This record gives sequence, C-alpha cells and structure tokens, in this order.
Amino acid sequence: MAIIILFFIYGLAFGSFCNVVISRTRSEEKLFLSQSHCPKCKKDIGWKDNIPVISFLILRGKCRNCHKKISWQYPLVEIATAIIFTLIGYFYTIGSIDNLLVAVLYSFVFACLMVVFVYDVKYMEIPMHAMWLAIGLLVVINIVNDISGGSLQGDFWHSTTFTHSLSALVAFCFFFGLSYISDETWMGYGDAFLAIAIGLLLGPMATFLALMVAFCVGALVGMGLVVAKGKTMKTAIPFGPFLIFGLLVIFVVLNLYPTFMDNFI
Ligand SMILES: [Zn+2]
Repeated sequence: MAIIILFFIYGLAFGSFCNVVISRTRSEEKLFLSQSHCPKCKKDIGWKDNIPVISFLILRGKCRNCHKKISWQYPLVEIATAIIFTLIGYFYTIGSIDNLLVAVLYSFVFACLMVVFVYDVKYMEIPMHAMWLAIGLLVVINIVNDISGGSLQGDFWHSTTFTHSLSALVAFCFFFGLSYISDETWMGYGDAFLAIAIGLLLGPMATFLALMVAFCVGALVGMGLVVAKGKTMKTAIPFGPFLIFGLLVIFVVLNLYPTFMDNFI
C-alpha cells in the first residue's frame, strides 16, 4: 500500500513538472535553469506556493502577487497524472516489486503523453521532444519485458519487441497516409507518431481497439461541439488527445482484464 501512495505523490510532482514543460516549450524557455514564475506578472513563485494542488487550493486559484487567476490546467494535470501513476503502481508493483523498473518507465511514458495531450488541446500541435522520448522509452520497455520474460532467446518473431514494433509501423503508415491524402486536414503528421506509441505499447489487436475508441470518442465529441457551440464540421479539433485517451482506456482494460483480448481473437 505504501508504494501506491508513493506513486500518487510522485505523480503529483511529475504532473507539476509536466505543466512547466508545457509552458516552457511554448515560450521556448530553458527547462531547468530558471525558477517557476507566474505567467501573468512574471514574479517568481516561492516553494510554498508551488506545492501541487494544495497551493492552488490555499491561494484559491489566484496568484499571490498579482491576484490574477491561475489556470485550472495546473491542478487538473497534477491530479490526472497522479491518478495515472497510481494505476501504474497498482498494476505493476502490487504483490511483488520485480516490475518496479517497468512501472517507473511506464510512468515516464504517460508523463510525456500528458504533455502531448495538453499541448495538442491548447496549441493544436504535437511537441515532438515529448513524443520521441515516449517512443524511445516504449522501445526500452518492450526489450526489458522480453529479457525478463526470456522471450528474446526463443522465437524472436513472437517477441513483444518484434510484434509491437510491427503494430507501430502499420499504425504509423495508416495515419501518415491519412495525413498525406487529406493534406493534414483530417489528421496531422504528429498523430502518426502518436500511432507509433500506441502500437509499441499495445501490440497487434489492442492497437486496433485503441484506435477504434479514439475514432468513436472523437466523432462523438466533434458532433457534440457542432451542436453545442455551433462549430462547423470544418472547425479543426486536434485528434491527438483522442488517440491518447484510446490508448489509456485500452491500457487500463488490459491490465484489469488480462484475458480481455481473447474475446477478439
Ligand atoms: Zn502573478
């Protein structure tokens, strides 16, 4: 149980870091060199006012210096990251901590995807530094899983490294094709890189399911926006967040019900 609480706190801290990465990627600031500051008045934020979620509540969502509102993005990203990290801790470290390394690597992957998710919602662009880091980590995770499962000495063609890489390649080609044919009006090339991450993480059939979830939820939300906000079908909405949502849903389902995919084969 203690390790789950640790994963939660570690998720809050990482969520806070994700917020910094998102704002500094946009403003092209150095990631580590300067202290956190208020985006409105630029005044440095002391450590007391920089505690995830808690400071937001104490300050009632306003900057201590200029009293301007602090975006809800900050506590929401912190809580969402903490919940995802807690789930990963629960899936991979309950009962035995043999998979602790994989759990930590997965948490880094989802932190990267959190940055991609929020950045794409806000700026309609996929930050490639976070995307490449996620893809690199997923390749490492697949190799670690194969080594610890002993499958690399056996049949390479059935190893996670090979089957998941192949899924990633197929998913990438599909999305790259959609972007190319539509001249990036249906999908962006960034979405093709997200498809690589989905393939590497989920493997053959589950990748397909995650994409189905993304398309269905994307269509529903798109129609909802047309009805509620009078947007036209032509108003572009970023697709990346739906891909990440689909990935997360299937990742959670597969960890809760390891035999889930048997229903589809
Ligand atoms: Zn301020």
